[in-house]
Amino acid sequence: MDTSPATLPALPEDEVQRVLCIVAHPDDMEYGASAAVAAWTEAGIEVSYLLLTRGEAGMVENPATIGPLREKEQRRACEIVGVTELRYLDHPDGMLEGTLSLRRDIARVIRQIRPDLVLTANFEVEAYGGLNQADHRVAGLAAVDACRDAANPWVFRELAEQEGLAAWRTRSLAIAGHPAPTHARPVEARHVQAAVDSLNAHEAYLAHVEGHPLPEEFIPEVLRGGGEASGTDHAVVLRVFDL
Ligand SMILES: [Zn+2]
Repeated sequence: MDTSPATLPALPEDEVQRVLCIVAHPDDMEYGASAAVAAWTEAGIEVSYLLLTRGEAGMVENPATIGPLREKEQRRACEIVGVTELRYLDHPDGMLEGTLSLRRDIARVIRQIRPDLVLTANFEVEAYGGLNQADHRVAGLAAVDACRDAANPWVFRELAEQEGLAAWRTRSLAIAGHPAPTHARPVEARHVQAAVDSLNAHEAYLAHVEGHPLPEEFIPEVLRGGGEASGTDHAVVLRVFDL
């Protein structure tokens, strides 16, 4: 992470009433970003999650049993950080494709929820200290494109004509887990703990990942790094774009 100089400004939130988080899988929000979500919901901001897949291909067991299990764990993770609106698009886990139909499905939800801020996760080829996962690369880019699609009345016209969904311009887009953040969302110790608990809610999933670091150890460390970059104790760092 580029953490110099240690002066990342706080994310401006005065006009943010609704946030929509768009990620590929159950658990993608729980690697630090959910600390910001806990802070937002506590401040009265409505936060919704849109997961593009159900994460059914993420474990060795049969997807038919894993899908519902991961859904249950995600529901619990959401409850811990105050998120009540959890939606899935049911695109295939592990085989997410950057198609127009994916963009249309995301744009539809953006027009329904009308967020002020969309948050997605790093979609670079290299990310998180290694090579990024295929669905992550597709999901982030599709989220970016769908923000523009949702704002353009001439793109996916059927959303307006058949479903009555007017164009909606999201003001800002934030990318979590990006190596060159522009802003920070400072969080308190209780939000750090909520983030740890939200990842621990993915109990069956974590049990299956061999050598997975302990959430109570690495999440506070990641958020402390964000704090150092922004002159606070803990923060979620984000690369933010005005749309
Ligand atoms: Zn993922």
